[in-house]
Amino acid sequence: MSTYRIASIPGDGIGVDVTAEARQVLDRAGEVHGFRLEWTEFDWSCERYTKTGRMMPEDGIDQLRPFDGILLGAVGFPGVPDHVSLWGLLIPIRRAFAQYVNLRPVRLLPGTTSVLAGREADELEMVIVRENTEGEYSQIGGRHNAGQPGEFAVQESIFTRVGVERIIRFAFELARTRSGRVCSATKSNGIIHTMPFWDEVFAEVAAAYPDVHSEQTHIDALAARMVQHPDRLDVVVGSNLFGDILSDLAAAVTGGLGMAPSGNVNPPGEYPSMFEAVHGSAPDIAGQGIANPVAQILAGAMMLEHLGEKTAAAAVQKAVEEVLAAGSVATPDLGGKSTTTELGAAITDALA
Ligand code: ATP
Ligand code: MG
Repeated sequence: MSTYRIASIPGDGIGVDVTAEARQVLDRAGEVHGFRLEWTEFDWSCERYTKTGRMMPEDGIDQLRPFDGILLGAVGFPGVPDHVSLWGLLIPIRRAFAQYVNLRPVRLLPGTTSVLAGREADELEMVIVRENTEGEYSQIGGRHNAGQPGEFAVQESIFTRVGVERIIRFAFELARTRSGRVCSATKSNGIIHTMPFWDEVFAEVAAAYPDVHSEQTHIDALAARMVQHPDRLDVVVGSNLFGDILSDLAAAVTGGLGMAPSGNVNPPGEYPSMFEAVHGSAPDIAGQGIANPVAQILAGAMMLEHLGEKTAAAAVQKAVEEVLAAGSVATPDLGGKSTTTELGAAITDALA
């Protein structure tokens, strides 16, 4: 029987509640499909930061290195600035483990209220492939002439050939396993250095995949299209910033943040990949036991898929769909009155 070593970092707020449910579902999937998950839990969080001044210990990255996968809840705490949680935990892990793909599949699930009324479930299925290690989210730049009339700020973006090429290539490989269509988010009419470079690399890679239909669309037009004609999109590839924005948009059009999983993937598998819900710690509903655990459970399914347990991953996806379609167990964001644990238990039971 295969055993996988998994690091669990529940984090803060609702991250703790939804991770507990995901663990339960994944353990049951293991019992049913013949593998074992050996969990190690880490208390790394903003709460830890308020006590110790660090989100994770100095050797945190080394502690994570031996694991087969990482399941992350969410980090964020009122009073702790976002840049502390991001640069103190998330970004160092993504970079140290070369998790250069942020994979965000979106799908209209049964029993959910898409803002796009009247859409059929099979019309809305796409995956956002977001560059996860460079681009617009850089530490280069600064503030100048503070308090003077000529005050200004500069933020530099870094796009490397290696970085751009590998994410675009990943999108094309993924398209081959799906519909065979890739759309690239660009803005080369306004951003005149990095985006034309991105487009050039995209065209080069596209030439090597004549079997895949490719197109480049400006991010503004693409955002509108995602709302009006999402059925014409499948694999959407974008830079760190564009991918971030498009994946929240895609999550919103397919039923909300409570349903959207994501993976920070190191495709060669040299280092552990990390799976998490797209949503954050949701301080407004933390501690009430009403968070929707589906996003985190689906993130767990992505982790199983990544580990090679494809049958189990599909079974978790199906269990989620069955429970949502039945509709009798639903958290408040889905229009029901159930708790996080009730929905988690229903999905666990649906795995038999
Ligand atoms: P963070 O600072 O950790 O990113 P945030 O303030 O950005 O937190 P999110 O977690 O991104 O908050 O949530 C945004 C909104 O979506 C909140 O109103 C929250 O209640 C709602 N929400 C997010 N996740 C869920 C969930 N799993 N179930 C129900 N509602 C959710
Ligand atoms: Mg947030």
